[in-house]
Amino acid sequence: MAADTVAAVVATLRAGQRQRLVIGVGHGTCTCEGAAFEYTFDVEHELRMSGVHDLADVVYLTNEYELGDVGAGGMTFDQNGFTTSSRMWTESLLRERGVRAIQQAHVHRVDADCTVEPFDEWTAEHWPRTYQNPLGRNIFGIGIAFAPPHAISRPRKSPRGTVIAPAPPRTGMPSGVMGRMVERNLVDMIQGGAAAPTHSASMGAMGAACNASAGTGLRRGTAAAMTMYPIVPDLRRYPGTGRSSTDTYGEIGLAAHGTEHMLHYLFLYQAKASPGWQLIPR
Ligand SMILES: Cc1cc2nc3c(=O)[nH]c(=O)nc-3n(C[C@H](O)[C@H](O)[C@H](O)COP(=O)(O)OP(=O)(O)OC[C@H]3O[C@@H](n4cnc5c(N)ncnc54)[C@H](O)[C@@H]3O)c2cc1C
Repeated sequence: MAADTVAAVVATLRAGQRQRLVIGVGHGTCTCEGAAFEYTFDVEHELRMSGVHDLADVVYLTNEYELGDVGAGGMTFDQNGFTTSSRMWTESLLRERGVRAIQQAHVHRVDADCTVEPFDEWTAEHWPRTYQNPLGRNIFGIGIAFAPPHAISRPRKSPRGTVIAPAPPRTGMPSGVMGRMVERNLVDMIQGGAAAPTHSASMGAMGAACNASAGTGLRRGTAAAMTMYPIVPDLRRYPGTGRSSTDTYGEIGLAAHGTEHMLHYLFLYQAKASPGWQLIPR
């Protein structure tokens, strides 16, 4: 019966309809998380092999306080001279396979409608990879046109209850990366006959650079330059801030102004398709 249900889910996904699959242990005191863990990855494997993984949101639901606990207080493995905890081991497998985890959970009831997750349960893995419209397969929404799945800055309310929630930035650099990726996919699909997009570019695995001018002048000009990676914080890959500390950087000063000045002319030159514009990196 479970196999029939999985086959039906795969058929629905093939028709382009997103599906959320929650697999795990339902009761807060039950045991044998290993079996739930195994079945989660069996299903995940099946989805990947069927080529429909991108449209599925696979969730491992567990009563474990920490992943890898398995009701046994966790384990420590010595491997190749390194000590690894079962928590790291489990978290890394989940990340590698694009499976989201809800831990410390007990199911009280199951509703027919999918509920919207609270802010803290959203992860970088929720972000779209191909920008293909799930219903209109020949429609792609890139740059400022695509609807982010969730806020990156924590949504808040004013004392009067007005929602104050900055939307995620879809700035020039990521918009350009998405555009090039979709362009390649269109070529592969139209000319190469690919049934689905062959390239992906999630904002959860993409960097951005911004330059904000703060005064002009050859010697006294100032600008604020900043880079971030990834745009959508990924606490699993970068515990703490969710971003790489080497690729997330900011500088204010004359050098940043020089960069801003140079980019200004390079962009205009490229936009006009003046001789040799193709040589300028996009
Ligand atoms: C002052 C300023 C500074 C910025 N600095 C940076 C920076 O340093 N780094 C960075 O990465 N990003 C920066 N950005 C952001 C960046 O410019 C935008 O995020 C980016 O251009 C979005 O790209 P897009 O292609 O999605 O949309 P857009 O560039 O807005 O393109 C949309 C296009 O659609 C056209 N259009 C709209 N309606 C229609 C219609 N009905 N029919 C046909 N065409 C239509 C518009 O004319 C426009 O050409 C800055 C933006 C501003 C305003």
